[in-house]
Amino acid sequence: MEPLSRVPPAPPAPAAQLPASVCVYCGSSNRAPAAHQDLARDCGRLLARAGIALIYGGGRIGLMGRAADGALAAGGQVIGIIPRFLTQREVGNLEVTELVVTETMHERKRIMAERAEAFVVLPGGLGTLDETFEILTWAQIGLHDKPVVLLNPGGFWDPLLAMLRRMVDSAYVRPEQQGLLRVVDRLEDLLPALGREVRPGGRSQFERA
Ligand code: AMP
Repeated sequence: MEPLSRVPPAPPAPAAQLPASVCVYCGSSNRAPAAHQDLARDCGRLLARAGIALIYGGGRIGLMGRAADGALAAGGQVIGIIPRFLTQREVGNLEVTELVVTETMHERKRIMAERAEAFVVLPGGLGTLDETFEILTWAQIGLHDKPVVLLNPGGFWDPLLAMLRRMVDSAYVRPEQQGLLRVVDRLEDLLPALGREVRPGGRSQFERA
């Protein structure tokens, strides 16, 4: 048996640290509910005040634009990443700290994923879902281990969470993979969720945290 003196002490639990940059995935619709537009602005402001750089899709429209407005108004760093062919449709935001213009959608998503240390999902549509599930599946196959937090105001995402639970119940998603998505109902809970350590096999995050 290994002598006790040679057994290295257990490393201290790492302190939960806030990420330096967060990518926000959210809707591009200007017709989205006012409460969601306000939430996006408040989210941008919260991140800026916490000293966290906002990485986002680079447009001025919808929740995307509001998140950038909130962060910029609070003096935050905002990095927009937009494909050239969308600069007109999504109204490329020239006020941001840095605007990266890509040639393709794939390049946009790759750069957003690379430059962010964590991801936040706000209400949105098909593009938001695409980005969210791509980043979750990349985590599932071990391409990254960055936190992904879903903000679920007023239960907006409840039907999606029910679908995810059904996929677990039907063994399409392994139970431990539920921890890949952290769910919070309120903006006040966002920063703690971004900083929290992920423990393999931890409690289900398809439920509300
Ligand atoms: P939406 O949630 O549909 O309003 O879209 C939110 C953002 O996702 C917008 O900036 C879209 O350009 C972007 N988006 C839409 N489809 C895709 C896609 N296939 N891949 C990456 N981003 C997308």
